[in-house]
Amino acid sequence: MDPTSACNLSCVGCWAAEYGKNYNLSYEMLDSIIRQGKELGMHFYIFSGGEPLVRKKDILRLCRAHQDCYFFAFTNGTLVDDEFCQELQKLGNFALAFSIEGNREETDFRRGQGTYQKVIEAMDRMKAHKLFFGYSACYHRYNTENVVSDEFVDDMIARGCRYAWYFTYIPIGKSARTDLLVTPEQRAFMYKRIHEIRATKPLFAMDFWNDGQYAYGCIAGGKRYLHINAAGDVEPCAFIHYSNVNIHNVSLLEALKSPIFMAYRHRQPFNDNPLRPCPLLDNPEILVDMVKESGAKSTDMEAPEDVEELTAKTREAARKWAPVAEQLRPRPKSAQAAQAQVTQTTQAAQAAEQATQQTAEQAEAQPSTQPPTPPSA
Ligand code: SF4
Repeated sequence: MDPTSACNLSCVGCWAAEYGKNYNLSYEMLDSIIRQGKELGMHFYIFSGGEPLVRKKDILRLCRAHQDCYFFAFTNGTLVDDEFCQELQKLGNFALAFSIEGNREETDFRRGQGTYQKVIEAMDRMKAHKLFFGYSACYHRYNTENVVSDEFVDDMIARGCRYAWYFTYIPIGKSARTDLLVTPEQRAFMYKRIHEIRATKPLFAMDFWNDGQYAYGCIAGGKRYLHINAAGDVEPCAFIHYSNVNIHNVSLLEALKSPIFMAYRHRQPFNDNPLRPCPLLDNPEILVDMVKESGAKSTDMEAPEDVEELTAKTREAARKWAPVAEQLRPRPKSAQAAQAQVTQTTQAAQAAEQATQQTAEQAEAQPSTQPPTPPSA
């Protein structure tokens, strides 16, 4: 949920930067969404924005009111002070991910001068209060290699980060740059590198797109997740700005049954290769179909974006990624490994059976003079 569209920064490629700053979900509405969500079995709520900590008083109040839920926020870190840290200590059900783009130069390039220093200060403060936190990084054409380098990742771990979210850049919004999209080679590099980081470093790293294999593809449209923006539009995903309904007019359950949500769930998974999970980034023709057949409207608060225009920016990247994703496709490898394991197990079982038979035959041929061995304890 986006409690607010307001943000004190204006980052390149962030949809919040494109949005007006005038939208807020009231405390009562946020509370109602959580109450309805709990009735449907939802107990994990993520705050994005805008900068969610612009509404930190309300967020802390929600965490206090719903101790049976876990809360999480993506934040630029600039509003984290000691008082806020002390509140987090008392609560225990709220964690943060600090948005960072790599080193000082890369972070300030996208987020504005001085932002890197503020993020580092916020991390130091969280660490001093022994709080649970991580970082989130948007990787793009110009920072991909740096944002997963040993130097950067080890520095984040030393600063107290326990997890990392990686998001690839997506050109959302009419003025979004397409040159920031990663190359297929960079995306393949990230796939391998994230696995390597998870296997070798004390950091749980996640890639929102390249980890599709662990979530059976796209999780949006209410399959496992949905997004509500600061104006109340209920969207299938934080990156898909099309909707049929607004939470101010419908219940959460009605929103889950809205046409674009139903279109998502009828079509998921969008690709049999889990490394091509996304209807926007990997299968743009499917997003066009779903938006058109559902009659969903653009929810971009500044300038509505036609779905054809949006997907025109990702088609080339999707086309180039397909053959690379095919080479990396995890399923055949897993199937082969599973088959090898079955064969190995069958062979071992057959060998054991043969050995038992031989022993029995030998015992029959030469009766033992030894007393029977008592069963062991
Ligand atoms: S729509 Fe794309 S970005 Fe959103 S959850 Fe699905 S795969 Fe991920």
